[in-house]
Amino acid sequence: MDKLTDIRYLKGVGEKRAELLHKLGIFTVGDLLRFYPRDYMDWSKITSITAAPYDANCCVRAAVNHKPRGAKIRKGMTIYKTVATDGEALMDITFFNNKYTAEALEAGEEYLFFGKVGGNLRRREMTSPLVSKIEGGARLKPIYHQSAGINSKAIEKLVGQAYQVRSDYFTDCLPESLRDKLCLTEVNKAIHEMHFPTNEDTLSEARRRLIFEELFLFQMGLMRLRGNRREMTPVRIERDFTDEFKRRLPFTLTGAQQRAISESVAQMTSQVTMNRLLQGDVGSGKTAVAAALIYTAAKNGYQSAFMAPTEILAAQHCKTCLKFFENTDINIALLTGSVTAAKKRDIKAKLAKGEIDLIIGTHALIQNDVEFSRLGLVITDEQHRFGVKHRGALSSKGEHPHTLVMSATPIPRTLALMVYGDLDVSVLDELPPGRQPIETYSIDTAKRARAFNYVKKHLDEGRQGYIVCPLVEEGETELAAAVEYAENLSKGFFSGYSVGLLHGKMKPKEKDDVMARFAGGEIQLLVATTVVEVGVDVPNSVIMVIENAERFGLSQLHQLRGRIGRGQYKSTCILITDAQNEAAQRRMKIMTSTTDGFKIADEDLKMRGPGDFFGSRQHGLPEMKVAMLTDTAILAEANRFAREIISDDPELQKEENKTLSEAIREMFSSEYVMN
Ligand code: ADP
Ligand code: MG
Repeated sequence: MDKLTDIRYLKGVGEKRAELLHKLGIFTVGDLLRFYPRDYMDWSKITSITAAPYDANCCVRAAVNHKPRGAKIRKGMTIYKTVATDGEALMDITFFNNKYTAEALEAGEEYLFFGKVGGNLRRREMTSPLVSKIEGGARLKPIYHQSAGINSKAIEKLVGQAYQVRSDYFTDCLPESLRDKLCLTEVNKAIHEMHFPTNEDTLSEARRRLIFEELFLFQMGLMRLRGNRREMTPVRIERDFTDEFKRRLPFTLTGAQQRAISESVAQMTSQVTMNRLLQGDVGSGKTAVAAALIYTAAKNGYQSAFMAPTEILAAQHCKTCLKFFENTDINIALLTGSVTAAKKRDIKAKLAKGEIDLIIGTHALIQNDVEFSRLGLVITDEQHRFGVKHRGALSSKGEHPHTLVMSATPIPRTLALMVYGDLDVSVLDELPPGRQPIETYSIDTAKRARAFNYVKKHLDEGRQGYIVCPLVEEGETELAAAVEYAENLSKGFFSGYSVGLLHGKMKPKEKDDVMARFAGGEIQLLVATTVVEVGVDVPNSVIMVIENAERFGLSQLHQLRGRIGRGQYKSTCILITDAQNEAAQRRMKIMTSTTDGFKIADEDLKMRGPGDFFGSRQHGLPEMKVAMLTDTAILAEANRFAREIISDDPELQKEENKTLSEAIREMFSSEYVMN
């Protein structure tokens, strides 16, 4: 029997059992052994009856006075009662319908009882405790995820059976030298510890090893499969045109922008493909960094593609670039879904002929018939909005073009490593000068009128503002609600002001139109749904009211708030909510106490737990069994050693790395779509 042996070869696993196990993802003996317990019951610390806590599970060693007596209390319900003692105190024990366990207890014999001890000081009691023989009973016992028809205990038994056959199913995928260096437990020992821990320390060592393995394979996999790290590119960016570009700007670059540009250009002028993540909080000026690189690429004769997740954003970037590149020979085109068919054909033809130097657009850019003649640089804005599937699609239209992905969702560096693998990272950790801090308040609906008056005051001073209503998500009724909400405001509280509405169900053209009128100052107050969440830049807007603020996650609130505080005026964000629950209150508290996107992202992570980021749902990545996002120290270590090994043996062809290479393939198999 080896790890690939079908689970049906285990004693007691027939067709039916096998099917139940399949539901848990267990097909082979190896799957079973890698099916780690989700938790443990600590039977190793034995307490006396008197010392047993009232509110927590514990393990009591006691002898039963007499065989439990059964009494039928009603149809289908028999209770069994006995009394046990640890020589110091008495404890009543009751089982409901559990004939099997009850009748196995013998008078005068000692057992371990696990559960909560209730009752009072004079006489304590345990109801439906778990029971174990003394021998081998006082240990950490595994608790497995179970499914209907197969419980935790049954799984434990099967694991035990597998180990009766042999104890070395796995070949260690971690090279021995690495294991030695990091004092990592050998794989078979570690896995055995997971199921049958010797004690808490050895268990935690086993976990550390398995977490390391998981994160290490994951990192290696990303590095290998994306593989762009050391790839040479035929793109020849000979000269840096940043200085020339800077002279065109209406402002001076911040130190952070300058650094990000230098780091990028240094890489682009080498002959190794750039593969970089530009992280910057909202408003940190990522677009200017992108434009600088595009400028240098264009001046070196290369085309650039700049992709954004929404039409509004693509249009905005187009406008920005048109301004930055005014009176140059750089030809710019905008390609989005709403461009007419004839225009699209024209753009695509010019692009293929190399007559367009910069194409800006949405998903439309990755369609099959979009071709480039000399694609040298690919930039993706708000990267996290695109699925893994879309990521490589644009780059594959050129021959190893340099890539820059920009993200305004500041995610902790460690997470960036996880999700983006072996990217180089530039961080814009400095806002352009003169930015006024945003003050944020959280109020309840009773104070809404006051908030609106405050908005009016700003509009009267010539500023602009947003009111975010979260009402439009799916479906017409909610859409109607948003329309009505906006109408009520424009006819009621804000009559005499110019109020616009922006929502997700609008046609791209209509959205553009509204945004243009807002950017131009014609619309003073923009009532919007979350479509304003990403990237929209109107520096004159200084106030934002967010209705039903409790409905948004932290990162989303931060993104929304990032629409203000972008100019030289002091900005205010008012969160309206009546929600009293703890989670909502905590989010409000974080929002009102900081505007630091990294801090907020950290908090967001803590509140959401790791499940949200791992797993295929969000990023299309393989799922982690033991590792969590909070395992950052191990992750950093894993990353370091993964880099080391890859640079030593890029194709993992050395004998010592064979098992490693196989393990990676296994982890990244099937559903994971790489591009
Ligand atoms: P984000 O990083 O959120 O995408 P943007 O690129 O939209 O930020 O820039 C936000 C605003 O800051 C824009 O109006 C832009 O013109 C302005 N800006 C960018 N860099 C600077 C700078 N160095 N000095 C002053 N303003 C700047
Ligand atoms: Mg942006």
